[in-house]
Amino acid sequence: MILNLGQQFVAGTSTPRLVKKSQLPSTLRNVFSSDGDTILITGLYTDSLDAVAREMAYRIFLHPDATQDKILNQLLQARDELAKVCGFNTYSERALRGSIFDRPGKVLSFLEKLSKGIWDKAKKDFETMSTMKLEENAINGPLGPWDVPYFTQKAKKDWLKVSSKEYSPFFSLGACMDGLNMIFQSLYRIQLVNTELTKGECWSPDVYKLAVEHEKEGLLGYIYCDFYERSGKPSQDCHFTIRGGRALQDGSYQIPIVVLMLNLPSPRWSSPSLLTPSMVDNLFHEMGHAMHSMLARTQYQHVSGTRCSTDFAEVPSILMEYFACDHRVLKKFARHFQTQEPMPDDMVQRLCASKHLFTASETQLQVFYAAIDQAYHGTHPLKGTTTEVLAETQKSFYGIPYVANTAWQHRFSHLVGYGAKYYSYLVSRALAYSIWNKYFETDPFNADSGNKYRTQCLAHGGGKNPKNLVADFLGVQPEPEVLADSLVNEIEYYENHVKTATESINS
Ligand SMILES: [Zn+2]
Repeated sequence: MILNLGQQFVAGTSTPRLVKKSQLPSTLRNVFSSDGDTILITGLYTDSLDAVAREMAYRIFLHPDATQDKILNQLLQARDELAKVCGFNTYSERALRGSIFDRPGKVLSFLEKLSKGIWDKAKKDFETMSTMKLEENAINGPLGPWDVPYFTQKAKKDWLKVSSKEYSPFFSLGACMDGLNMIFQSLYRIQLVNTELTKGECWSPDVYKLAVEHEKEGLLGYIYCDFYERSGKPSQDCHFTIRGGRALQDGSYQIPIVVLMLNLPSPRWSSPSLLTPSMVDNLFHEMGHAMHSMLARTQYQHVSGTRCSTDFAEVPSILMEYFACDHRVLKKFARHFQTQEPMPDDMVQRLCASKHLFTASETQLQVFYAAIDQAYHGTHPLKGTTTEVLAETQKSFYGIPYVANTAWQHRFSHLVGYGAKYYSYLVSRALAYSIWNKYFETDPFNADSGNKYRTQCLAHGGGKNPKNLVADFLGVQPEPEVLADSLVNEIEYYENHVKTATESINS
């Protein structure tokens, strides 16, 4: 029943809203797609240049949906009952067992401390966006939640002048793979080697297979790279395991086999596959997951590589994103596909800064989502309707007030998959930053750091209690306060980067 309700809820999160043409101001009718007399609102239209269109889309797409609400309530109640039958007070208590934060109190304390640490910084972000909105048009209303993604993108374009068109020629897939190869070679002494496929081995002719080879230990595993977009292929980038690693009875090791699935543009006759900066991030991210699988050496395959506690699972992948935006790393691999010129310094600087623009407000949004997820999976019955709980949580955790007659939670599909663990991404990011800061920030190619990270983190997969793993590797207990501080430090550190970059560009 729980699985069924979950599926129904997720399906309902992306259902378009239909409105009559006559219900919308005539100036907006052409912004959205229409079918005869009906207008289809399929999402939040956050990149629309028209502030009123963004607001309309927000109010219509997020208008409360009685069916979704009924399913959500049934789902939360069923989860609560299941937890109680198993002897837990709440679903959250049950879901968190074996995690770094193994009690709901710890998650809440982490979210509260983090929220406090970034509140003023997020407020400053919103003030900046409000000014931008007024500068666009003096009669514009106050900043709404529908404006935040729009102005974040606009600032990247206007202040830092970062556009995909300018950057893509420096990120051919070949150059990016060379970059990854170079990083792994320095850190772990391994090479990614393109390997022949046997007839019928693969599901599509454009998939290639990489052997992961260590200079002394030999073959460590295989990665099938299904990188190019194809019709009918899921659009979600992901990493999945075909065969986990495990110790065999004869003393040998069953090597892991995984798939990396991305949606990169196919090569054309005139150019190789050229990646946008965010595709580069995704490639590095997914490759981080793959290395977790390749370098884990666990006794059993159900704890191999990425099969670890949810709040640790994104650490290796997020860590790779720090490499992808480090100027020393970028300088080594980003080069123009025609001229072979390395990326100019000012482009590197602008790109690195753009990835950290408005991170405080962005983080605050994630804290708010994580807090709703905890509230819904906490003590039942809830202290009101799901919308009342959302509005109350928004007041405490997000700097922009709740908009009456909206129910964002009806579109929040992650409530199903993550259930009480949506906070995990923030914890993984805090840990990844701590690792980057302690081991790689001074030298991203340091072999000793790479070796320590490999043997003390990646090798364990999910076979070691994640709290002990982190404590042993980082030398601190992963308590809520420590991890909240790590994220606040990360935001402060990059804040200065952004400031320097914007000043030097606009001076
Ligand atoms: Zn991931």
